[in-house]
Amino acid sequence: MQTHTPRSLLPTAGLPLNEARILLMHVLGVSRTWLIAHDTDTLDAQAVSRFAVLAQRRVAGEPIAYLVGWREFMGHVFKVSPAVLIPRPETELLVETGLACLDGLEAPRVLDLGTGSGAIAISLALARPDAEILATDASGSALAMARANATALGAANISFWRGDWWTALDDSGTDFDLIVSNPPYIASGDVHLKQGDLRFEPSGALTDYADGLAALRTIVSGAVTRLKPGGALWLEHGYDQAQEVRDLLTASGLQSVGSHRDLAGIERISGAFYNPTLSSSH
Ligand code: GLN
Repeated sequence: MQTHTPRSLLPTAGLPLNEARILLMHVLGVSRTWLIAHDTDTLDAQAVSRFAVLAQRRVAGEPIAYLVGWREFMGHVFKVSPAVLIPRPETELLVETGLACLDGLEAPRVLDLGTGSGAIAISLALARPDAEILATDASGSALAMARANATALGAANISFWRGDWWTALDDSGTDFDLIVSNPPYIASGDVHLKQGDLRFEPSGALTDYADGLAALRTIVSGAVTRLKPGGALWLEHGYDQAQEVRDLLTASGLQSVGSHRDLAGIERISGAFYNPTLSSSH
């Protein structure tokens, strides 16, 4: 095999330079700074061939996060595998909004439904070590990944529960100050499922295999009886689902229904509070 340096190898990958660089950093186990400083060092043949394999997989569409095994979210490094959805930057809005709801509360109780990699629950747990956090997932391999992330990141205040939405919890699954979820909300047959990273992600984390609102409906309808008075429910949803989710929240008897826009200007999360004194339907 031809001798390579980072400078000669990176442009051969058929990838944007920043992606090729991330893959080579992963193969060599080095930082970006190191790689740039050693741009003309000779690479050993094994590193070159491992890089070539990863680059080919990336060219075939596999997400960078699965190839390197991690993704950063809320400033923390989360392990990811094809068992879990790759954390998205826009989901940080859900975490930040949830944290704002917990301001001024001592030792709040928090629930994250469908935790996947654990990115949301663990970010909340690390920002609020006094909180008691429950995290659920229907997938055992997702829960194993979430547990591994909690351990690696030192989040000790989370318990993990396996099951479909509310059925994951026993009788202790009530009295929450905050419930959050980033559920599957893409309608079955949506073309996005056949594009980009989504082709490689667990379909059960992306689609409800129905109209896109099935999981959102289940979550909203179960929330009222599990929230403390004054507690909040916040949900991530699709770019065109905000009005429908607000309607579900209103119909369930929650108050102060609203949505927040992500950095792209899209109404990305919707939420509401439980205030029994104002509620007409309970
Ligand atoms: N935001 C993801 C996407 O459209 C979908 C995540 C989800 O279904 N919860 O790429």
